[in-house]
Amino acid sequence: MKAEIISIGTELLLGRIVNTNAAYLSQRLAELGIDVYYQTTVGDNPHRLAQLVRKALIRSDIVMLTGGLGPTVDDITIRTLAAMLGKKLVLKRSILKNIKRHFKARHLAVPDGNERQAYIPQGAKWVANRVGTAPGIIIEHRDKVLICLPGPPRELQPIFEKGIVPYLKKNFRSGYVFRTRTIKTTGLPESQINIMVKDLLELKPPTTVGIYAKLGEVDLTIMAKAKNRIAAEKAIAVIENKIRSRLDKYIFGYDEETLEQAAGHRLIAENKTIAVAESCTGGLISSRLTDVSGSSRYFIRGAVPYANEVKVKHVGVSAETLKRYGAVSKQVALEMARGIKSIMHVDVGLGVTGIAGPTGGTKSKPVGLVYIALVTDEVSMVKEFHFVGSRADIKWQTSQAALDMIRTGI
Ligand code: ATP
Ligand code: MG
Repeated sequence: MKAEIISIGTELLLGRIVNTNAAYLSQRLAELGIDVYYQTTVGDNPHRLAQLVRKALIRSDIVMLTGGLGPTVDDITIRTLAAMLGKKLVLKRSILKNIKRHFKARHLAVPDGNERQAYIPQGAKWVANRVGTAPGIIIEHRDKVLICLPGPPRELQPIFEKGIVPYLKKNFRSGYVFRTRTIKTTGLPESQINIMVKDLLELKPPTTVGIYAKLGEVDLTIMAKAKNRIAAEKAIAVIENKIRSRLDKYIFGYDEETLEQAAGHRLIAENKTIAVAESCTGGLISSRLTDVSGSSRYFIRGAVPYANEVKVKHVGVSAETLKRYGAVSKQVALEMARGIKSIMHVDVGLGVTGIAGPTGGTKSKPVGLVYIALVTDEVSMVKEFHFVGSRADIKWQTSQAALDMIRTGI
């Protein structure tokens, strides 16, 4: 079964919005075992759209179109398809009722253009839009199908999941399923992981592994295509076990799991509380730790002692240490961690100091130099890092390393 995605909108061509709909649909179609062979983008131009759809109907079985279903004059999708296929537009009272209900709930009269959204090509099916006004429209044409979805992702996604997925499953059974599993690591560079799993990266379908380097994180995604869900999951498990045995402690989570969640799980498992004194990250570590629902169980305080005087006055760094070693030093990071731990009476103290740049570096203390200290009743450790990148990049990598020290160090 071959599918393609046509994204409609001049805004997309101008680069004003990023085409997240195509990414979303491609991923979901792959999971359904439907191959996506083309993604194209076209402006709000009836002639070029018709040309593209003609081509798509020759080479694909399923043509997904997104955008241009709105009430304004530049929304041309339905008109263009109907004209092209020689179908009349007919009023669907139930769609109109939906549209009226939408505006009534907002105490508004139905604007002129919106009534137009209740007209669909003769013989077409439609899927109600519970968030906005344009329905999803399914136009069957010979043995092919055109599926039109509204542009706004918050409208497109529920229509796709509730109405289109069941339709595709019923009418376009591919005979196989597709499953993925993402294994997330931190602490090793991509090049090193590459060497450790090289043989797996060379696997050929139906089971393959991809490597994706992010900032302070490397993900491995296993993809398996099989006759049924159980077979696909089995194929994934075999590879997953191999990756686990090789990358072991560098793995912090799977699929949607985050590093801050992993750090939080560890704190809960150890029944420990934490307080953070972070300088160069300006609160990022605290912010990420508190992104996790339920973090109040372990997160007690985040402090940003940025100025030297504040490091002395509020987190117990000695003026002598500051003078002797400088603010960006192992000693200061440790004193920050110890200080915040004892002031807040917590089990874990974290201290972070570094140079985020792009200014402020020196020969002996260059931009990207960061010290992270972690102190508990049992351990007291400090690590030195040399990060590269923009100010934001360095802050993010520092937060990754700090969260990972919590995950592995307590
Ligand atoms: P509307 O009724 O809002 O006009 P529409 O179906 O006509 O919806 P468009 O006018 O093409 O859709 O786009 C409306 C908005 O939806 C865009 O401004 C953008 O925010 C979002 N959008 C459209 N296409 C995409 C896309 N491919 N990826 C992500 N967002 C998109
Ligand atoms: Mg529009």
